[in-house]
Formats: sequence, C-alpha cells, structure tokens
Amino acid sequence: MMTATGLLFGVSLLAQTGGLAPALSDPEIERLRALVEAGVIPRAQLAKAQQDADRARLEVLVRRLLQQPDLLPDQTTDLLRAAAELQKAEFEALKRQQELISIGAAAPNSLVDFRDRLTFADKQLDLAKTRARLVEEQARIVSAEGRLDELIDEELAFWSEGDPAQWDADILEIDAMYFAEFGKPLPISAAGSTDLHVSMGFDHTGRFDVAVRPDELEGLFLMSLLEEWDIPYIAFLSAVPGQATGPHIHVGPPSLRIDAEMMAKKLKELDELLGVQAPAPAPEQ
Ligand SMILES: [Zn+2]
Repeated sequence: MMTATGLLFGVSLLAQTGGLAPALSDPEIERLRALVEAGVIPRAQLAKAQQDADRARLEVLVRRLLQQPDLLPDQTTDLLRAAAELQKAEFEALKRQQELISIGAAAPNSLVDFRDRLTFADKQLDLAKTRARLVEEQARIVSAEGRLDELIDEELAFWSEGDPAQWDADILEIDAMYFAEFGKPLPISAAGSTDLHVSMGFDHTGRFDVAVRPDELEGLFLMSLLEEWDIPYIAFLSAVPGQATGPHIHVGPPSLRIDAEMMAKKLKELDELLGVQAPAPAPEQ
C-alpha cells in the first residue's frame, strides 16, 4: 500500500518538474541545434547550452524537494538522485572551465563562480542525505505504530492506556518540564498527522511522537510525567538486532487507520497543495 501510493505521489511530482531526463523539446536548445546543423555555430556551443539547461533543471528539482517540509520515501529517492546528478554536473562544469582557462579561452578568475557552485551542490547533497535518513527513521516509526499488536506480543512495545476519555495532552507543559530537567527541548519528531502518516494509511491527528528511547533516562522521565497526568502513551522499545522498530514514545491513543477512499482523497489534496496538475474532480453532492 505504501509503495503504490508513494509511487503515485512521486511520479506525479516528477511529471510536473520534468523529471531527471534532459528536456528534448527546450525551444532554445532546438534553435541552437538548427544553427549547428546549418553550420552557423560550433557543436560545442550546443553541448554547453544543453549542459547548462540540465544543471538548471536539476537545481530547480533539488531546491523544490528540499523546500518541501514533509517528504515521502519515494521523493527522497528522487531528491538523492537529483542532488547527486547536480553535484556531478557541477564538478564536470568546473573541469571544463579549467580546460578553457588552461588554453587561454577563459579568464582565470572565472573559476571562482564554478567552485562556489560545486561547494553549494556538495552542501545540498549532504542535506539531501540527512533528509533521506530522517525520512527513513520516520517511516520506521510509523511502520512500528502499524505493527503495535505484534510488537506488544513480542514485548517490544507497551501501551499505557491512561484516561482515554480525556487525554488532552498539554505538550507545551510537557516540553517545559522536560526542558527544566534536561536543558533541551522535547525532541518531537512528529506533531499531529503528516503526509507520511497519510501515505502509510494512518491518521495521527492530535498525537505526538517523541524521539526518545523508553529505556533511557529521557524516556523514563517522559513516561513518568505522562503516567502522573494519566495521558495515554505507547512506548516503542529499542530495536533488537536485525529488526528496526523505530524506538520512540507515542503520546496519545493509537493512531486511527485511514480507509483507502479517505487515503486517496488526502493524497489528492496533497497533490493539489503542491500544484500538481490533476484531472478536474467530479462534482460532489
Ligand atoms: Zn505516533
């Protein structure tokens, strides 16, 4: 289910951004191609224009994906691929410029700009890798919540039901007490529902995930607070070797499952938020 919807989402985003393939119908490139064929300009000029266009397209795609606050796993794959391609393209552009300088066809100080661009592409690739790791960790957390019964049976999770009737967790107060104890804010990894939860079939509205291990001091402190205030929580324990359980503390009752129809509706809303072209919806009653 995750793959199908994630794929659907990823494909629609790539379709809109033009994907990673070089655009063959760029009018400027076509114009230059015609000039090369007519023998008016050298072929190298067309190659350079094509390389510049490819870099510009990759830049847009990388920036767009990095700016998106809530990436899905398939989108991080697109991001990593685009950021790596961009870094390679910048490296090659730098090498070409060095060759031009060495034959006296470009000014030596023109290299600065190429170096800056490569440095920036390196940083974006690092950022992309960090984002991909975070999304992977987040996906493990959501997946663990989806296997709650199984993990409870295996003693890898336990559920403190608290008072489910009035579990209005005052997360700010919890955060303040956590800060007073540890001198750092509560590491909330998911507040409420996220695109990732929706794409994996969960409604996480009103719930919080806190990235602390229940078997470490921070986790034990948080659980004692939640118990004192009768707030429901689920503790997901540290991973056993070879099994990724996404250790964390989920504050609130278990997430609700989203049915397939609701999930499709939510994913469509996300597409619309991103401005992805979608067929006009049928009028609703
Ligand atoms: Zn949760």
